[in-house]
Amino acid sequence: MTVQAPYDVLVVGAGHNGLVAATVLARAGRRVLVLERRSIVGGAAVTEEFHPGFRGSPGASLCGLLRPEIVQELALVPRGLQLLPLDPEVVALGEDGKVLRLWRDPARAAQEIGAFSPRDAAAFPRFRSLLVSLASVADPLLDQAPPEVSDWRWADQLRLARRGLTLRRMGKDAMYASIRMVPMSLRAFLGEWFETDLLRATLAVDALVGTFRGPYSPETAFGLLHHYAPAVHGAAWSVVRGGMGRLAALLAAASLAGCGSGYFGGSEDKVPLKGERISVLSLDTTLKPDKRIPDVEVRLPRPYRTADWPQPGGGRPGRA
Ligand SMILES: Cc1cc2nc3c(=O)[nH]c(=O)nc-3n(C[C@H](O)[C@H](O)[C@H](O)COP(=O)(O)OP(=O)(O)OC[C@H]3O[C@@H](n4cnc5c(N)ncnc54)[C@H](O)[C@@H]3O)c2cc1C
Repeated sequence: MTVQAPYDVLVVGAGHNGLVAATVLARAGRRVLVLERRSIVGGAAVTEEFHPGFRGSPGASLCGLLRPEIVQELALVPRGLQLLPLDPEVVALGEDGKVLRLWRDPARAAQEIGAFSPRDAAAFPRFRSLLVSLASVADPLLDQAPPEVSDWRWADQLRLARRGLTLRRMGKDAMYASIRMVPMSLRAFLGEWFETDLLRATLAVDALVGTFRGPYSPETAFGLLHHYAPAVHGAAWSVVRGGMGRLAALLAAASLAGCGSGYFGGSEDKVPLKGERISVLSLDTTLKPDKRIPDVEVRLPRPYRTADWPQPGGGRPGRA
């Protein structure tokens, strides 16, 4: 069987990035086909039954980097997203039964650190404030297409220059700290701030997750910014009520709603895609792949770049 697919865009993979991209494109009036090889959407952000009656999130477990713009634009909170902030953010168990809890409130965290070292307690609020400031400089870059280094454009340079200016306005100390920090190891950077091993280890964990490197490796200090990224928006690392899979299900629901339902204000004269609509939320555990699909040959038009898409980097006429 061959289907002449009436799609403008093909998204391969229904991880959270694929789902968000599909929804945004569908809202922009593109006809989108999302292809997922598993029978469950979400990619690494899933919650699965690993033993009858027991569900868990085997991949991503904490939500902190989800952009507030996406939460708002896709109406995830009215759809049922509930984020439960971690507080304390970390409970570190030390030798001799010692426990260090890092609370969200820097003053409360400093008080707890004071039991280990008054010097570290005094430094902690300054440390946190510096890292939140540096994270706020980098934060807008996460919403932008990376600059094309082989083809420098004024717009890219202007955006980066703005970031540099923001950093400059924070004063010499912050600028100096950010420049020094980039090549430093966590061991060296945290060693300059703190003397308590348990505190240094606690802070290092988040910066090392997913890097496959140790605290002595160069350039690992920069990973600390990722821990403080949610604080830039007044948010926190959180658990999703219902597991990470609930977030994926909500994103999938937003994708389906974006396909011709008019929920997002799509134009009424667009012909909705054919096919039965399914409720991802209610079928979360029983969703089954259509057995006929593997035999369907999907033919898409040749990809081409458009000049009219609003995303920076979305259209570069004349470039392959
Ligand atoms: C163990 C682990 C723990 C993590 N913990 C956290 C955390 O706590 N917090 C956090 O913010 N981040 C965490 N991350 C990182 C985060 O999960 C990933 O950055 C994120 O899931 C990437 O999303 P994605 O949509 O780009 O890709 P993915 O989630 O990888 O999704 C890709 C999707 O594409 C599908 N696919 C791939 N190839 C094909 C194909 N050829 N045809 C059809 N479908 C295809 C896959 O099946 C998958 O569903 C963790 C990652 C891992 C692995």
